[in-house]
Amino acid sequence: MSQQSRSTFVITDPSEIVQALVGLKDVRVLAYQRHGPDVSLVIEQVLAEIRCPSCGALARVKERPLVTYVDLPVFGAPMHLTWKKHRLRCGNPNCARKSWVLADHRIAAKSCLLTTRAAKWATEQVGTGRSVKEVARELGCEWHTINDAVLTYGTALLEADTKRLTKTTAIGLDETNFVRRVEQRTSYATTVCDVANHQIIDILPTRHFVEVAKWVADQGLDWRSRITYGALDMSPTYAAVYSAMLPAAAQVVDPFHAVALANRALDAIRRRVQIEQLGHRGRKDDPLYRARRLLLRGEERLSDEAAARLASLLELGDPTAEVAIAYRVKERLRDFYRESDPVVAEAILADLRDRCLHKAMPPEIRRLGKTIRTWFAKLCNFHLARITNGPTESLNNLIKRIKRIGFGFRNFENYRVRALLYAGKPNWRVLGSIVVR
Ligand SMILES: [Zn+2]
Repeated sequence: MSQQSRSTFVITDPSEIVQALVGLKDVRVLAYQRHGPDVSLVIEQVLAEIRCPSCGALARVKERPLVTYVDLPVFGAPMHLTWKKHRLRCGNPNCARKSWVLADHRIAAKSCLLTTRAAKWATEQVGTGRSVKEVARELGCEWHTINDAVLTYGTALLEADTKRLTKTTAIGLDETNFVRRVEQRTSYATTVCDVANHQIIDILPTRHFVEVAKWVADQGLDWRSRITYGALDMSPTYAAVYSAMLPAAAQVVDPFHAVALANRALDAIRRRVQIEQLGHRGRKDDPLYRARRLLLRGEERLSDEAAARLASLLELGDPTAEVAIAYRVKERLRDFYRESDPVVAEAILADLRDRCLHKAMPPEIRRLGKTIRTWFAKLCNFHLARITNGPTESLNNLIKRIKRIGFGFRNFENYRVRALLYAGKPNWRVLGSIVVR
């Protein structure tokens, strides 16, 4: 293939160079100012005749107010754009309209303190993982100025990018908690994931049946008919949402949550046996306390040395072998997930369930057995759906990361937009055409 010759554009006129810094049709640069490290461009719109929006009479310029916006940095230095606006008044003395200021969404949206291009740039920076604080420092402005812009343009992008929602065939409902800083109380949210494409579709400020079911209903019949699998975290509420709203979808217990449940039973037994044996909670030299991390690790990830250390710690701290039993139960559940033959896998789980339910088992294990019994078919559906192991786990990690970056999420909408920009895979190219007035 022959190489296309690229046309080079050389500008030598200094005033044209300054014009190029703005690059908007019918916007003229009046001055380029420098005060120390601060650079500021003064601009105005080139007006044709303007008519009154109420009566259509010719308008006259009344005032030229100056409004300053934060713009993209130039050569590493923060830049401001000072917009010499036009306040107009109607030429018709009988008109009720007093005066109005001419707007231009290409330069800056009405309520935004950033220029449109700076606001879009900041939205993508924050949306892809940088902190608001860092971006605010780079643009030389307040935290709130950046955060407000990210919320405004982020919300508009998520609304415009409708393809984000439509491609999924398998969703997951997941409970997420977050602490409201101001009131210091925990709120619950429902994260809706696209488990086929590993992204977050939406976050709802509730975990209640009626609202979650309404969200599913609102997606429309086409969308609902495409969903073949619904992943869930053994929550009866979400199971009821699926049964009511997506009756044709197979319900699949998310492996991450099932293994987490077995790990919790193991941990509870370790703590109980610890107290029964030594009369106090784990201290750093106690064998069971020293074994706590090894116990939660997958058996195949233990070196020979680590496995030997775990065996000797259990020998010291677990004379009744209850912790060892719980460890085997957890590993057996992991075998169930590793098995590739659905028939063999179902037999493994049935055997594990029956063993757990045996009356000689510790109470924590019997409880786990009851949970396996209740959710048996939906656990086995994992092998039917083959929803790849771990999407929800990695999404949960993303959510945690979002919470860390933005520590101090004061309100839900802030959290939702940040999480969706970061883990919802929006099409950033759509941002270019977003218009906020
Ligand atoms: Zn008028």
